[in-house]
Amino acid sequence: MSNINHHTISINTPLESIQRLSPFQKKALAKMRLRNVEDVLRHFPTRYGETGEVKAVEFLTAGENAVVFGKISKLKTAKTFKSRVAISTAEVEDATGKIKIIWFSQPYIAKMFFEGMLVRIEGKVSQKRTKNPNEADGELYFSNPKIEKVTQIPEGTSDSLFPGETDHNLSPVYSESRGISSNWIYHFLQKIFSSQLLNNLIDPIPENILKKYNLPSLKTAIVWIHSPRKKEDAEIARKRFAFEEIFLIQLDRQKEKYLAQKEKAFIIRKNKEEMQSFTETFPFPLTNAQNKSIEAILDDFKAGPPMSRLLEGDVGSGKTAVATAACFAAVSTLPPAGSRRSEFESLQVAYMAPTEILAEQHFESFIEYFAKYKIPVGLITGSGAKKFPSKSLSTSSRQATWTKISKPQLLKWVANGEIPILIGTHALIQKTVKFKNLALIIIDEQHRFGVKQRMQLRRKHDIAPHLLSMTATPIPRTLALTIFGDLDLSLLDELPPGRQIPETKIVLPHEREAIYERVRQELKDGRQVFVICPRINDPDPDKENTINAKSVKSEALRLQEKIFPEFKIAALTGKMTPKEKEDAMRNFKDGKTHILVATSVVEVGVNVPNATVILIENAERFGLAQLHQLRGRVLRSSYKPYCFVFADTKSEKTISRLKSFVNSHNGFELAEADLQQRGTGDLAGAKQWGVSDLAMEALKNIKMVEAARLEAKALIEEDFDLKKYPLLAKHLAERITVHME
Ligand code: ADP
Ligand code: MG
Repeated sequence: MSNINHHTISINTPLESIQRLSPFQKKALAKMRLRNVEDVLRHFPTRYGETGEVKAVEFLTAGENAVVFGKISKLKTAKTFKSRVAISTAEVEDATGKIKIIWFSQPYIAKMFFEGMLVRIEGKVSQKRTKNPNEADGELYFSNPKIEKVTQIPEGTSDSLFPGETDHNLSPVYSESRGISSNWIYHFLQKIFSSQLLNNLIDPIPENILKKYNLPSLKTAIVWIHSPRKKEDAEIARKRFAFEEIFLIQLDRQKEKYLAQKEKAFIIRKNKEEMQSFTETFPFPLTNAQNKSIEAILDDFKAGPPMSRLLEGDVGSGKTAVATAACFAAVSTLPPAGSRRSEFESLQVAYMAPTEILAEQHFESFIEYFAKYKIPVGLITGSGAKKFPSKSLSTSSRQATWTKISKPQLLKWVANGEIPILIGTHALIQKTVKFKNLALIIIDEQHRFGVKQRMQLRRKHDIAPHLLSMTATPIPRTLALTIFGDLDLSLLDELPPGRQIPETKIVLPHEREAIYERVRQELKDGRQVFVICPRINDPDPDKENTINAKSVKSEALRLQEKIFPEFKIAALTGKMTPKEKEDAMRNFKDGKTHILVATSVVEVGVNVPNATVILIENAERFGLAQLHQLRGRVLRSSYKPYCFVFADTKSEKTISRLKSFVNSHNGFELAEADLQQRGTGDLAGAKQWGVSDLAMEALKNIKMVEAARLEAKALIEEDFDLKKYPLLAKHLAERITVHME
C-alpha cells in the first residue's frame, strides 16, 4: 500500500528508512529513545481511552469525539505557504453523507491510503469558523483523526441508533513528545502491522516457559498491547512484557550469583563465645533480629564462596552494630599462614559510606568499638585521610586519639596490611587503594551504589571479598528479590526497645500558623528543624502540578523573611555541589543553622540528634516509604520527635494514603502499601531501580517474581552463556548497557 517494500522491514530498521522524518520529529524521537522499529513496538500505551461513539456522518456534531466508517477519497498533501507545515486532506463518505478530514504534519497518511479504500476514522469533530457572524455555522471536519484500513463496514453503522462496532472499544494512548503525538505512534504502528514483520518476529522467551505460565507469544502480545479488543487482552499482554523484563533482570542477577558461587573467599570462623565477648562491649543488648543477622553472616563467612548479603533495616534498627560485629569477626582473624609478613597483619575490611559526614560518623564510632582491641582504623574521603591511633601501635593507650595523615601514607599502611579497617566514601574504590588481605566489603546505604560499582569493588581482588550491603530504604519483598536477586537477604524488622515514635500529624491548611508556633517553641528550646519540599527536576510546564509544588529556595526565603526571622535558615538541594552539600549538612549538624530546608536528599542516614521536628510540604508527592524515611531523620533524639505533613490535595485516595502513614511506623509495611496503592507510572523511584513502570506493576505479584527467578536460575545453570537462546543473550546485553551507564 505504501511505497516501501514491506518485506525489508525488520525490528532493527531505523525509523527514517520507513518514513520521512522532519528534523524536529527526529529530535523528538531521539528524546523518546525511539530509534528503530523494535523501539516503537515496545513503546507501550500508557493507558487506553474509550473510543468515541460510532456515528453516521449525518449525525456528527461539532466538538464530539466520534468514529465513522466509510470510503476515503480526495487524498491530497500540500505545504502551507508560510510555515511549510504539511497539510493532508481527504474526505470520507458513508451512506448518509461526506465529511472532510485534515491532518497537520502527517504527510505520510495520504500515502498510506488509496482512493476508495474502506476506512475507520476516529477523532474530534471540529467546525470551521465563519467570518460573518450572521452566516450559518461553518463546515464540520475531522482534525488529526486516527485512520485505519478496514475490510468491511460494520453492519448498522449507517444508522446511528444501532452502532455495530465491537472491535474497537479501547483506543491506545501513548506518551508523547512535542513533534511526535500519540496519534503519530498509532499510525506508525498501523503501518508496521500491515507489513510482514509480525509474522517474522522471534520470541526471546523460551517457548516452554511461555506455555508453563500461560503467557502469550511476542507477536500476540504486541498486537494485544497496541490494539486490544478487550481490557483482558491488554492486561495479559502487559503481564507478558512485565514477566520478560523481570526475567531479564533475574537472568543478569543469577549470572552474577552463579559466578560468585564459583569464587573463593577468605574463610572466617568465629565461635559464639568469641563473638559474644565483642558484642558484650556494646552499651546495649542486641535485638533478636540483630543476633539472627550476625549468625547468618558468620555462616556465610565459613562457607567457602564469598558472602553476598543485603542487610535491610529501617532507620534506627541498628545496622551499624551488625556491621561492626561482622567487621570484628574479620579483623580478629589472621590471614592464612605463609602470606603473613608482619605481626600486625590481619584480615581487612573496607567500609564504604555514601557521604563524608557519614564516613566520619562511622570512623568515630568504630574507634570506640575497636580501641580496646588495639585495632587501627583508617578514614579516607575526598578531603583527606585520618588514622587511629595517632601513635604507633605498641604504645597506644586508652586515651589514644586519631590524627590526620597524608593519603599516600595511609594507603601504604593499607597496602601492607597494617590498617585492618578502612572507612571511606567513593574514594575507597579508586584504583590507588590497594589492600593486602581484603576480606570484607561493607556498603552502607546500598541503593546509592549501582550493581556495577558493587562488582567493581569485588572483582579487583584475587580472593573475592565477602560483601555486606546495607540499606534503610524499605522496599517491597518482590522488588528486593528482583533487583537484589544475586544477594541473600537479612531483615532487621525490629527496632531496639524504648524507641520514641514520632508524633505524626496531617496539617490542614487552617492549622499551618498554629503548627509554626509549636515549631517556634521547639526552636526556642534549642531544637532544630527539617523542612522538606518536593524535588523539582525539570520544571515542566506541561505537567500541571509541578508549578504548585513548593521549592526549596523560595520556601527557605519565605520562612526566613515571614515566619522565622529570628532563626538561621539554610537550604540543601541535590543541585548543589558535593562540597556545598557537605557544608550545609555540617553547619546544621553543628547547630550553626537552625532550620534546614531541603529536598529529599536528606534521606541519607545523617545523624542530627538535636533535630526533633520535620515538616514535609506537598506530602502527596512522596511515596509512603519515602515519607517514612524522611520521618526517620528525627528518630535519633532523646527528645520527643514530631513529623508534620502538609498535603495539597482533596483526593480521598491521597488522604487515606497519608493516614496510613500517620498510623504505621513499619517501613516494610508502608513500602508494600506503596506498591499496592499507587497507580502505575506513579511509583516514585521505579526509575532509580532500573525497573520500568510496567515491571513495577508486576511486582505486585509475588508468584510472577518467583517464577521469573526460578526459571532464570534454571536456565543459567543449564546454559550459562545462553548459547541456545541468542536473542535472550542479546536483550540481556542491551539491558545491561542501558542500565549500567
Ligand atoms: P541504622 O540501622 O539506621 O544504621 P544505627 O546503627 O545508626 O541505625 O543505630 C541507631 C541507634 O541505635 C544508634 O545510636 C545505636 O547505638 C542504637 N542501637 C543499635 N542497636 C541497639 C540495640 N540493640 N539496643 C539499643 N540501641 C541500639
Ligand atoms: Mg546507618
